[in-house]
Amino acid sequence: MTNRGEDSFKKIIAHCKEYGFIFPSSEIYDGLSAVYDYGQNGAELKNNIREYWWKSMVQYHENIVGLDTAIFMHPKVWKASGHVDAFNDPLIDNKDSKKRYRADVLIEEYIGKLEEKIAKEVSKAAKRFGESFDAELFIETNPRVLENRKKIRDITERFVSALEQERLGDIKSLILELGIVCPVSGSRNWTDVRKFNLMFGTQMGSASDGSHQVYLRPETAQGIFVNYLNVQKTSRLKLPFGIAQTGKAFRNEIVARQFIFRMREFEQMEMQFFVRPGQEFEWFEYWKKERLRWLLALGIPAERFRLHKHEKLAHYANAAVDIEYDFPFGFKEIEGIHSRTDFDLGAHQQHSGKKLQYFDPEINESYVPYVVETSIGLDRMFLAIVSNAYREEKLPDGSERVVMNIPAALAPVKVAVLPLVKKDGLPEKGREVFNRLKYDFNCHYEDKDAIGRRYRRHDAIGTPYCITIDHQSLTDNTVTIRERDSMEQQRIPIEHIDKVVKQGIRLRPLPEAGS
Ligand code: ATP
Repeated sequence: MTNRGEDSFKKIIAHCKEYGFIFPSSEIYDGLSAVYDYGQNGAELKNNIREYWWKSMVQYHENIVGLDTAIFMHPKVWKASGHVDAFNDPLIDNKDSKKRYRADVLIEEYIGKLEEKIAKEVSKAAKRFGESFDAELFIETNPRVLENRKKIRDITERFVSALEQERLGDIKSLILELGIVCPVSGSRNWTDVRKFNLMFGTQMGSASDGSHQVYLRPETAQGIFVNYLNVQKTSRLKLPFGIAQTGKAFRNEIVARQFIFRMREFEQMEMQFFVRPGQEFEWFEYWKKERLRWLLALGIPAERFRLHKHEKLAHYANAAVDIEYDFPFGFKEIEGIHSRTDFDLGAHQQHSGKKLQYFDPEINESYVPYVVETSIGLDRMFLAIVSNAYREEKLPDGSERVVMNIPAALAPVKVAVLPLVKKDGLPEKGREVFNRLKYDFNCHYEDKDAIGRRYRRHDAIGTPYCITIDHQSLTDNTVTIRERDSMEQQRIPIEHIDKVVKQGIRLRPLPEAGS
């Protein structure tokens, strides 16, 4: 099962709710758009993903340290970073359906359709010509392909220049010219394109004593930049070194759909790596490989990831790549790796009037360090894991089960302790086992319902091990341990449980960087 398509996605969303992973925020008041709460199992899984990231970044690298900076920051931070002036999306409304869209996304989707047409032509021709087919030659010479490629080039050129120079009227003209219709009303009755800043603002202090505008941070990175000097001085780290942090970020997204993929309140895991100018491309390549390695170590198939190099770079970057994951609704960004030059530290130096430099004893020079950033959304990582994990299985005896094949290391509950019956001293023995394991693993104790039903419940939340206590356990101190994916059961002494579980929930050894 590939877990692609709308139906699979709906099932995954329903499963997340039914089994305590994710609830709509304030659901008893009908929810709040694009805001979600993590339930009892979701919170555990989210914590485990965060911890895996933190350990891989901070604990496993001797030259990376972690921070926890405040959500509120001085308003000048967002002026310096460019967010006040440039963190905008162009939005457009359809007057008939009253639906709001990102104008750039409408055009990108139109281009995507042209690309699909080309891909279809190519695959049709490949079938027709068989083995002798030369795809490159076909693309270079087929008139229909050439025509569509020219269209794509022309549209992209006009669109990028209109976007860069903020000619919003031209963006609207392009939408009208291309005949783009609203997917809901089917009409071309569009409003003008307007700019919409994605930052949430609020007031700090009471109005009477001169309150001022502050923002909920739209990214965690700026908390790292403004502390660069504090950390460098107090840690005495030498370049290259990194500063990592995880935390909430807020964006007033115009089109917030697709469950936890695009939320208005979400969590980021970001690391800024400070390097000597001129060495950024080398580090950019290093982090690209390293971050892929981190994702692949979880055992998600490699073909579910792909790299998307940015052709049009943001004003602060001199190289950028997205790692995309094949979500149920297609390949979309899960992590960005950006070479941000000295843009951020340079801008803060200018706006604050404080020197943000590094004295490099190796070359006897002071400079503003360059930065390579890795930035992954914790919630998108969560969605990748649950959408990869969801399986509906038919068992040999004809019954069915839903199992969440979550990497064991990240599973919300590691061990379920299940006395076979709720009498004859089995619950007491079960509690003894539970108390023995609970300091090392997140365990559940359950003695209600038939054992089969309890197994199914734990399959559905991805518990890698179920321990069953039966009458034999009372006489010889052994239990059966059932493994989630194979459903195989083994009889082992109680004192071996720790070892078996520890071994089973280890992450696969990582392939070496560069391989
Ligand atoms: P997108 O193009 O999808 O809006 P972005 O390029 O604006 O994303 P970045 O600013 O690079 O995203 O943020 C880094 C990471 O933060 C993204 O790769 C993504 O995983 C996560 N992220 C960004 N916006 C959201 C959001 N609204 N909801 C959940 N995660 C998000």
